[in-house]
Amino acid sequence: MKRIKLFFLSFFTLFLLAACAGPNLAELDITQRIEESESPKIVWGVKADTNLFGLYNIEAGEIQGFDIDIAKALTEEITGDAANASFVEVTSKTRIPLIKNGNIDAIIATMTISEERMKQVLFSEVYFAAGQSLLVEEGSDLQGVEDLTSEDTVIAVKGSTSAINIREHSPEATIIELENYSEAFTALQSGQGDAMTTDNAILLGIIDENPGYRLAGAPFTDEPYGIAINHRQENFQAQVNEALSTIIENGTYAEIFHKWFPEEELPDLGWAAPKESAE
Ligand code: GLU
Repeated sequence: MKRIKLFFLSFFTLFLLAACAGPNLAELDITQRIEESESPKIVWGVKADTNLFGLYNIEAGEIQGFDIDIAKALTEEITGDAANASFVEVTSKTRIPLIKNGNIDAIIATMTISEERMKQVLFSEVYFAAGQSLLVEEGSDLQGVEDLTSEDTVIAVKGSTSAINIREHSPEATIIELENYSEAFTALQSGQGDAMTTDNAILLGIIDENPGYRLAGAPFTDEPYGIAINHRQENFQAQVNEALSTIIENGTYAEIFHKWFPEEELPDLGWAAPKESAE
């Protein structure tokens, strides 16, 4: 009898403990959390080493870029105040694990929408259109991906689509994968590779700060960027999509786009064409 009592007691304790621990953070409904909280934060995973998209500005003490401004505009639409956006640095390799663990609510970090990634995350509609390219020194002989041979070494970043695509496009070249884009560019500068590869828009951000480098050839892939959200967060995905439509319609997207890419024309995103702001 004593044994049975003890069994039920430990079973009950375990049950209580499980109830106190609550559901896994990643499984809490984000939309519900936002609705119920008085100061509803949205935690965005962003790049902090990628000029134009997400780059830490030491003087300002904050991360700045196109992805950051879009995240702030979406946060304003969803919660009524852009100041509710908070930012956590991710790299191409860490962004999906961080969302799966519930450390961040969404990823807005130069991330291409792909079938493979859809096995792990939901995506918003496309919010930026890039394409993969090569970065080389001004004096390099390389004019495009078709020029790469077994003599060439190309630097890519772990966890990026670029690292996968380059192997398909140039199976004979040697590919080195590094942790993030600042490491990758430092490696290119120090002569560890003949080219570095990722999206043209990211590479243009590097050229902007480092004259003496150029793109080699036209983009050889399509890289439509989406905002990634954990599986089973369909409500939040719908909220993000609605907010994205609103800022595309009301000119906020166009303002942000022109701020970071003053020389580029507004992109047609396939599902929506951004409108210029009224003023
Ligand atoms: N857009 C590509 C990707 O999602 C390359 C940029 C990046 O590494 O974030 O993998």
